[in-house]
Amino acid sequence: MKRLNSRWTKGLAAFALCLSLSTSALAFPYVVHGGDSLWRIARDCLGSGARWGEIYEANRGEIRNPRLIYAGQILEVPYVAKNAQISFRFASAEEGAALMLGNTAYYDGFSQNDLDFRLGKTGATMAEYQTFAKQQTRSWTDAERTLISSLFSGMEWTLEKNGYTLPPLDEIVFIKTTMQEEAGAGGYTHGTQIYLGSSITEYAATGKNAAYVEYMREILWHELFHCLTRCNPEFRSEMYRIIHFTTQDGDFPLPPSVFAYHISNPDVEHHDSCATFLIDGKAIDCFTDFVTTKHFETEGESFFDSGTTALVPVDGTDIYYTPEQSSNFDEVFGRNTGYVIDPEECMADNFSYALAYGMAGEEGKGYPNPEIIGAILDILRK
Ligand SMILES: [Zn+2]
Repeated sequence: MKRLNSRWTKGLAAFALCLSLSTSALAFPYVVHGGDSLWRIARDCLGSGARWGEIYEANRGEIRNPRLIYAGQILEVPYVAKNAQISFRFASAEEGAALMLGNTAYYDGFSQNDLDFRLGKTGATMAEYQTFAKQQTRSWTDAERTLISSLFSGMEWTLEKNGYTLPPLDEIVFIKTTMQEEAGAGGYTHGTQIYLGSSITEYAATGKNAAYVEYMREILWHELFHCLTRCNPEFRSEMYRIIHFTTQDGDFPLPPSVFAYHISNPDVEHHDSCATFLIDGKAIDCFTDFVTTKHFETEGESFFDSGTTALVPVDGTDIYYTPEQSSNFDEVFGRNTGYVIDPEECMADNFSYALAYGMAGEEGKGYPNPEIIGAILDILRK
């Protein structure tokens, strides 16, 4: 689950420039940075600066003078992956609803708290929830398909250019929903199904801007990480080890007082990894869960607002600690992302930054914990 990024929604209004999207799946959006020239982009993206004319030709509507391109401008780079690593397709609204409700193991794990927060009422039932959830899927527009396809084309380019190999992955199925079934999240996954919010994707198809393209790329890498870890338990353990979590066989059970406030996250299927946290000077092995600090009360409340990460002792004690109670929380998870509700989500963000921005980081700003990014990229280079 990825919370909708306020950086993007706030930034959107600031962009007066809205270009219509004309890319095909054979091109990917490139955000121009300070100091770029068409020659340099051709060298970096196509392997030879001498091919700058191909980029110019593909962007004749966008570039008047080939010597004048500006930071933040979005160009389309013609590109076809030689050996695509990711295959994907788009589900219709009907198929999406059927696939969604087919994830029965996920719904079986729901707490009453899950139902109440998702339906915005107390005493909500699973039957009510499922009726509601299946009405939330939508069909993709051609412009949205084109945008996602072109972003994937750019992701393939990142992999090919850097010599990164992803672990094996079944076909990805994209499902469009209103996201109301998951409290307005930005995106989430089940299996190799990636659910994306219609508000995001509709904006994507009509208003193209640099912040948007980068945000979408982050989201797609983030969600792809969840699919990769699900299909590849070894890869998952390797990724979690980077942030000091060890994975075991079988899940730790949620103690009753934690389950009462538990919020299920489709991207976190297991509670089978733990790390050592310092709490009141004592080293305690804990797994993580996401809980609300109170039960649902009033309309409009989101579990994101009253939610906290719970550090649950693996010894079965019916108690949890908050991140604030642990003196080494940031040392365990690192400080590259604030979205730390589980090793899965923390690493999904780190993975998305590593792939979207490399070691340089967004706008060349680097990272508080570059060693996490470096370790991810080392694994992909193997
Ligand atoms: Zn996620």
